[in-house]
Amino acid sequence: MSRTLATKKTAARSKNNGAPARSARSAESVRSLKGLVNVTRQVHFNSAHRLYNPAFSDSWNEEQFGLCTNPHWHGHNYVLEVTVRGEPDDITGYVIDLGELKRVLNETIVKKCDHRNLNEEVDFLRGVIPSTENLVIAFWNEIEPHIKSGKLHSVRLYETPRNFAEYFGHSAS
Ligand SMILES: [Zn+2]
Repeated sequence: MSRTLATKKTAARSKNNGAPARSARSAESVRSLKGLVNVTRQVHFNSAHRLYNPAFSDSWNEEQFGLCTNPHWHGHNYVLEVTVRGEPDDITGYVIDLGELKRVLNETIVKKCDHRNLNEEVDFLRGVIPSTENLVIAFWNEIEPHIKSGKLHSVRLYETPRNFAEYFGHSAS
């Protein structure tokens, strides 16, 4: 390497905190790959709830919901998995920055539901029976407006390791 070239390279680096200057590397470019990819973030929260329909008698509720209608509540260690679908960005390779998805899930769901009573303390669940089925629809509605990169594909909620519900944003009609 000639002395002149070495000096030029050093000068270019010094302008950019030691990183190679962009112009010096402009001949190199990344290849963007095409394909729809699902990206998932998992979060956890613990909540109390009770399955109860106030339009019916206590005995109807007991027959319908069994232990799940216990008037003194019960709790679950919920696991929420939210999937965003899209094509990797040409520049970052991301469908969505998973740090950003984590932030959205914490703000919209975890902060409002963790260590809360889902029947009584969560505004967006007011008047809703907090079954796993209803929760995935309600969570979708909270999360979807905040997804700015890719498209919300599914909201899956585990009430127990064996029981989960999943919603893709479709209505029956
Ligand atoms: Zn329950």
